[in-house]
Amino acid sequence: MNKDILKNINMNCVLYLRVSSEEQVENYSLSNQESTCRKVAESRGLNILEIFREEGASAKTANRPELIKLLEYCRKHKDNIALVMFYRIDRLARQISDYLTIKRKLFELGITLMSATEPTEDTPTGKFVETLLAASAQLDNDVRGARSSQGLYQRFRDGLPIGKAPLGYQNTTVGEKQVVIPNETEFQLVKKAWDLVTTGTKSTREMAEIMNSWGLRAVWGKKRYKLRSQTVCRIFRSIIYTGVLKYDKYPNEEVVGKYTPMITKEQFYRVQDILDGRRTTPMGSKRKVDNPNFPLRKLIKCHYCGSPLTAGICKGNTKTYPYYWCRNNCLKTVSSNKLEEILLNRLKEIQPSQEAIDLFTLILKTTYDKRIKMLQERKKTADKELFELKEMMSKLVQGHLRGTYSDDIYESQKTLFEDKILSTEIVVNDSTLDKYDIESTIVFIRALLKNLARAYEVSDYGQKQVLISSIFPSGLTFDNTRLLNSEISPIYRDIQVISEPDAHLRVDYGTRTRDLLLHREALYQLS
Ligand SMILES: [Zn+2]
Repeated sequence: MNKDILKNINMNCVLYLRVSSEEQVENYSLSNQESTCRKVAESRGLNILEIFREEGASAKTANRPELIKLLEYCRKHKDNIALVMFYRIDRLARQISDYLTIKRKLFELGITLMSATEPTEDTPTGKFVETLLAASAQLDNDVRGARSSQGLYQRFRDGLPIGKAPLGYQNTTVGEKQVVIPNETEFQLVKKAWDLVTTGTKSTREMAEIMNSWGLRAVWGKKRYKLRSQTVCRIFRSIIYTGVLKYDKYPNEEVVGKYTPMITKEQFYRVQDILDGRRTTPMGSKRKVDNPNFPLRKLIKCHYCGSPLTAGICKGNTKTYPYYWCRNNCLKTVSSNKLEEILLNRLKEIQPSQEAIDLFTLILKTTYDKRIKMLQERKKTADKELFELKEMMSKLVQGHLRGTYSDDIYESQKTLFEDKILSTEIVVNDSTLDKYDIESTIVFIRALLKNLARAYEVSDYGQKQVLISSIFPSGLTFDNTRLLNSEISPIYRDIQVISEPDAHLRVDYGTRTRDLLLHREALYQLS
């Protein structure tokens, strides 16, 4: 490209970095975020004008002074700024509506948003994935909210295992305090099981049989069940037995438990090695958590034992062969190419027809417009009600001042009004639905649906994760030949169903699908 032209193009950006007080951990530290953003900026020839650092702010959008400063700064210098870069979407916003609002505000100033670590390009897939990522950041935030309200997190911080006590222990209360203590009969048996598995001579299936013969059982509700190899595997994968609490949902946090440990950490890691290495470990395969060569590792589980497939590379004389297998040895190894092919075929099977996509788009649009209209109506009514309530409230106050109403009547009426006003205000606020860009959302969805297999192929590691788990919310299982248990997310199922010509003859669909079918009938009659 001509360098003189480049000179005239605005190549300035500003950075937004955020770390909340609860995640002062390395991956998220401000300096880490900053250096990642700087590298990306450098590689794209961008000049950093200003950096906004939000420290200790909560994940919610309110109370984020630096974000407000940034927006202000952008307004002032809009002609001089090409884009705002942030480390990851969940750094910027945890509510999808917030994210879209910020994006639109900047867009109006002619400024683009860019994530340093995720795709936010202006391609249809990029945009769709971006929306999904923002949605998952929101979900994560919602989960976070639910979690803290349930006090699970507090329990964890207090050094107690969350939920049911692990096999060998029991939950009980001493005075008013919840504690976890060894179960008199089970503790020694589970300890013996740990010792036996440490010898490396027993498979988890054999361990399950042995433990069952000792009388150990899994308890769900009030029922007792025989241990399955899957359950046993989970027990031997659980670090809780070493007296340390660590959960996937609180990554980077480890708490010393307030209960008697059953085994040492050394023994635990020895058992982990045994479980990992049960099958001859393929040459030179160091397992990485997110290895981009193996996008299916977390997405596909073994049909027999339920553990996620594990993967590695086998070196031949001239070539390397990536492949997947079950760590409990239930499956034949399957080459990465083969498994990808099976997945692509599965995607082709559920590929909706163009007619279905068109219809779905139309329905989406009509439903959206209807909903907007309904919300506007609701807001109008609530506005009116609010006005009347305030009017009556002021009459009440005047009446009280004139002495028409006694203090008692005044007080009780006033509380009543205040409650009503409050609940009406909530309705008003709820109904102010920000009309976001439905048109461009439809463009992404159409582009994605048009060819699911292709969308998968052109996606990178992270996008593949989002795409597949959005289609198959409960994951896929593999039984050597086919992908099973592939429950499709309701939205894809609906799209499929509306494309079947005789769909209205079938009765086992949910109400939403029936609604969609009615829509289809109506639309056909219109056209
Ligand atoms: Zn298995």
